[in-house]
Amino acid sequence: MTPAALARQLLLDAPGDALCDPCLALVCGTTLSDMREITTGLLDRGLDFHPTSICTSCRRRVVAIVYRTKCVHCSQPLADDDPGSLVDGERFHFRCWRLLVTDDTIRLSRTMNRRSRELIEQSRRRIRSGRRPPPRPSD
Ligand SMILES: [Zn+2]
Ligand SMILES: [Zn+2]
Repeated sequence: MTPAALARQLLLDAPGDALCDPCLALVCGTTLSDMREITTGLLDRGLDFHPTSICTSCRRRVVAIVYRTKCVHCSQPLADDDPGSLVDGERFHFRCWRLLVTDDTIRLSRTMNRRSRELIEQSRRRIRSGRRPPPRPSD
């Protein structure tokens, strides 16, 4: 595995955990200047990588990089105040999930796989039959 692939994987494995270039260089076994290029490349490509100002690992106030997942429904990043609901490996904002399970007119996102659709259909059926929707996982 190349340092670039390893760095990417480390960030993907820990959404919300920021890592600075020195920490990443250390764990990936590469030089600081190489790691700077790698993280700059990740940030340039946009996607779900974001710059932040503190490293979760060494706690220093430095430029660090963090991976934050997006909501499958609205494609907006999940924020700390709404970590979202994990539905079969896919993250939704709590408010988006509520929208999906309570509003029949919303067309399901094409990016959702069949299993997620089934889960949503099940939830809708539960709501129709008078039972409560699943509770918010963490509050
Ligand atoms: Zn660090
Ligand atoms: Zn959303």
